[in-house]
Amino acid sequence: MTSLTEAEAKKLKKRLLRHVGKAIQDFNMIEDGDHVMVCVSGGKDSYGMLDLLLELQRKAPIQFTITAVNLDQGQPGFPKHILPEYLDALGVAHKIVTEDTYSIVKRVIPEGKTTCSLCSRLRRGILYRVADEIGATKLALGHHRDDLMETLFLNMFYNGQLKAMPPKLLSDNGGHILIRPLAYAPEKDLAKWAEHRAFPIIPCDLCGSQENLKRKQVKRMLQAWEQESPGRLDVIFASLQSVKPSHLADPERFDFQNLKTKPREAELPFLAPMEV
Ligand code: SF4
Repeated sequence: MTSLTEAEAKKLKKRLLRHVGKAIQDFNMIEDGDHVMVCVSGGKDSYGMLDLLLELQRKAPIQFTITAVNLDQGQPGFPKHILPEYLDALGVAHKIVTEDTYSIVKRVIPEGKTTCSLCSRLRRGILYRVADEIGATKLALGHHRDDLMETLFLNMFYNGQLKAMPPKLLSDNGGHILIRPLAYAPEKDLAKWAEHRAFPIIPCDLCGSQENLKRKQVKRMLQAWEQESPGRLDVIFASLQSVKPSHLADPERFDFQNLKTKPREAELPFLAPMEV
């Protein structure tokens, strides 16, 4: 990747801040007085999220506090010093939590089987506990627009469900609200931003895990579509915000059973186009 000129960097930052600001507004993600726990993994996206939220915090008309939290999951070779040093230098309140979920996952999951779902469940549980300990009112995760779309297709292809990853979610126990301020931010912009800002990235394959093959396949599929028809990802994302349950086939989302004709208005002298 080539480095950005000052003008390009300024434009990129403006675009990313606009995406984050709009997502926060559209989903009422952050309210006055919130304490946002920003989950930082050491990957490009979570660094970008923290960076952009800190910038918005300085400009926002509302007051909210931020605590960055990193979970050290005991992966061999995890460079423990990188995040505390970065966060100290930034002067942001932070907490590093050490919980060896790596050993649990290795013990419980047979060799060669997928470890990510147990690992993420354990991680999520710990993050909820930490949120309670620090009194956070929101947990911010660094999933971006491409993650949301990939999840949509993964659920469609492998789970037979039409669902993506919501920008805002109430935890199953009703006790926590997760927010995804990068929900509108394209991954390629975040990658450029990470490079421009020279974030000290911690590699994400320290667990020695299998690559998440299905997600990678879906990512490749989406990228190929975008190359073939530029703008297709924008259209796919727009579909997530324009759902018509009456034109799907889920009787729980739409009352097909009780669909009745209505008294018709006077017939118009022309035929209206049929809706498909
Ligand atoms: S890649 Fe490794 S650390 Fe990440 S969720 Fe999967 S098992 Fe956990």
